[in-house]
Amino acid sequence: VFFIKNKRTTPIFIIKLSKLIRRVPQTQSKRHLIQEQLSKHSSGFKGEQSLDYFYRYLPKDQIHYLHGIRILHDGYYFQMDTILITPSFIIILEIKHLAGHLYFDDRFSQLIRTFEGRRESFSNPIEQVKRQSYHLTKILNQYKFNSVPIESLVIMTHPSAIIEASPLYKEATEKVIKSSSLQQKFLNLSQKYPLEILEQKQIKKLTKLLTKLNSAYNPDVCELFQINKNELVNGVFCPICDFSIMKYIWGNWRCLTCKTSSKTAHITALQDYAYLISTKITNRESMSYLNLESSNQTNHLLRSLNLPYTGNRKSRHYHLDSLLEKEH
Ligand SMILES: [Zn+2]
Repeated sequence: VFFIKNKRTTPIFIIKLSKLIRRVPQTQSKRHLIQEQLSKHSSGFKGEQSLDYFYRYLPKDQIHYLHGIRILHDGYYFQMDTILITPSFIIILEIKHLAGHLYFDDRFSQLIRTFEGRRESFSNPIEQVKRQSYHLTKILNQYKFNSVPIESLVIMTHPSAIIEASPLYKEATEKVIKSSSLQQKFLNLSQKYPLEILEQKQIKKLTKLLTKLNSAYNPDVCELFQINKNELVNGVFCPICDFSIMKYIWGNWRCLTCKTSSKTAHITALQDYAYLISTKITNRESMSYLNLESSNQTNHLLRSLNLPYTGNRKSRHYHLDSLLEKEH
């Protein structure tokens, strides 16, 4: 049976935003902008995760899933939330996790949401997914893949969403579905495209190619929000009570609030440093960032992590990349 595991990792942008919000001072006026972006992206990710439940009802041995593929094409990046590759056709999913009343308006190509007494306009996901399909087609041609039909769907994952469309908006009826209709839609497409075009070997090649072309959205978030890196809160956060800064006493990190002690709490702090400030750090920088009292103490902690380093004793830079979670 041909089956490659459907794996999904938290997007690095979400990881960075959640680390940034912890280390930006309460007084920083941009906090709400960061929080807004974090909520928006987390909710989108939640929508994508919620689909796993419905993927279980699709034929396991025929589909290869790719998540969050972002590719540079014609000078711009285009991002596809999820791609389903089968031997007979490919489906691009644009996933929207929006609650409320959602109205697809073709006349002005917009999605209008009414929620908690507020009306908001979003760019039309049907047009979005059609553009993605255009770019993906070009890429498949460029790399000489057999011309396999590419379908695109907009999936509304929020269970309480109410979906409507302007009466003559045919594409909305064809392309927009709720999660629970995915199974039926897949069945319809399987009947529409009975011919097997891609051999298993080619599917493997194609997923390899798309994974290689993929380049995750990974900006310097301090630059993005124009926050000075010197402003960020230093220190080692307590893993239990979350917001207290721990003190290093006799080889242990101690939380004076909840009395937790840890030998490894500095690792998370150094990960934060790598995600937010720099993937390289000196002894001096570590000492001030971790709120340590002596250079020897710092040296001892850094050396115990067995990090690769460059430079000689005085100007040694430790490389933090190996502390970051893999597979972004
Ligand atoms: Zn604590």
